[in-house]
Amino acid sequence: MARAGVSRRALLGGSALAAALLCAPHVAAQALPRVVIVGGGAGGANAARTLLRDGRVEVTLVEPEPLYVAVFHSNLWLGGFIDFAALAFGYQGLARAGVRVVPQRADAIDRERRELRLADGGRLPYDRLILSPGIDLDYDSVPGWSRAAETAMPHAWKGGAQLRLLKERLDKVPDGGLIVIIAPPNPFRCPPAPYERASMMAHRLKTTGRGGARIIIVDPKPKFSMQGLFQEGWEGHYPGMVEWMAPDISDGLVSVDPATGTVVTGFETYREAALVNVIPAQKAGAIARGAGLADASGWCPVEAASMASALDPAVFVIGDAAIGGEIPKSAFAAGSQADVAARALLAGLFGEAVPPASYASTCWSLIAADDAVKVSGHYRPVDGRIREVEGTVSGAREPAALRRRQQEENADWYRAMVAGMFG
Ligand SMILES: Cc1cc2nc3c(=O)[nH]c(=O)nc-3n(C[C@H](O)[C@H](O)[C@H](O)COP(=O)(O)OP(=O)(O)OC[C@H]3O[C@@H](n4cnc5c(N)ncnc54)[C@H](O)[C@@H]3O)c2cc1C
Repeated sequence: MARAGVSRRALLGGSALAAALLCAPHVAAQALPRVVIVGGGAGGANAARTLLRDGRVEVTLVEPEPLYVAVFHSNLWLGGFIDFAALAFGYQGLARAGVRVVPQRADAIDRERRELRLADGGRLPYDRLILSPGIDLDYDSVPGWSRAAETAMPHAWKGGAQLRLLKERLDKVPDGGLIVIIAPPNPFRCPPAPYERASMMAHRLKTTGRGGARIIIVDPKPKFSMQGLFQEGWEGHYPGMVEWMAPDISDGLVSVDPATGTVVTGFETYREAALVNVIPAQKAGAIARGAGLADASGWCPVEAASMASALDPAVFVIGDAAIGGEIPKSAFAAGSQADVAARALLAGLFGEAVPPASYASTCWSLIAADDAVKVSGHYRPVDGRIREVEGTVSGAREPAALRRRQQEENADWYRAMVAGMFG
């Protein structure tokens, strides 16, 4: 009993999932306003839940991947703190709860007709659209690197296969071997994550008898999130293993050669690196850019009070694809944006007052076992932009018990986050 506009293939694409969604109670509720969500990640899955709880709209989630891999705790897996299974989730829970899950890629948006075009040719009409497609990588941003080179020099910034590749490569780095991380320019997904990744790599190397390995971070930025805390942690836990090169020290990245594992900076050439992790510049997911919802920055401008696209009031853009001020690109932030967007969307549809917007983000970073630091902020619309109204960051040389507690908080947040999305 597929709705008009969605092909049977779209609905039947994933067997167990399709069975669950064909039985879902909402299918009969044809008169409800149609909200279509693109992307079942931190933003999209949370938006689906909030809308579902309200009960006044039909919620359709378009997501091509059968499994979501929570890249937001992948550094802990690299470090050996959790299993890969703790990162992977299916969409059956959302389908059972009443979300109509369409296992298809969204190819284009016909904004005039308010219709989403799917990869299999199907069409999905919508009254309101929520886009949470995450990021695309700018494959031209690192000279010598390209999509064809992502196996030789993995990014591991988006999904499962790349993450597994990075872990395999990390596990083969010999004692005394060299890892180079090319850090991205601002703005990018999760500001502390490249540096937490370096910490987790160092932890893994050190605890597996390879403490003679070195990790060099070549950064285009003159400073980075929680810099002092990371550098203090590297000196304490991994002396001599992690070296951060600001652009005035490295004299800038010149090029990489994926065939030989070479990284050339203005200051030095690193040859035969055992692993080069290229984290390139980023931009909003292609579906949002293709629909004309991004500006010249490559990101999607939004109304700070609602997360509605600044370019189309029928579309809300949440998560990493959006740009609207000072809130960082994090899963925590995506969840809070999902909540604001869903409430504003419902208020708009049903002629109610839009509730005041308030956003939050906390990013915990694990530096070593039981040594987690965090940066938190609260954000509100101020003069049309999302501004930080309150922020805290861990202090230097905090007591070990506090650092341990912060790691417990991190684990608790993750459990609650993924249960909220997929449970
Ligand atoms: C190494 C690393 C560590 C991180 N650590 C943290 C952390 O500790 N805490 C934290 O809060 N955040 C962290 N983050 C950031 C967090 O992962 C992102 O901010 C968050 O996932 C953004 O959510 P999103 O919904 O925008 O995108 P995603 O979660 O990436 O979801 C996007 C979804 O859209 C789908 N999609 C894309 N295009 C289409 C299309 N055309 N049609 C249909 N579906 C589509 C994708 O398949 C995907 O499932 C980390 C990120 C990285 C890389």
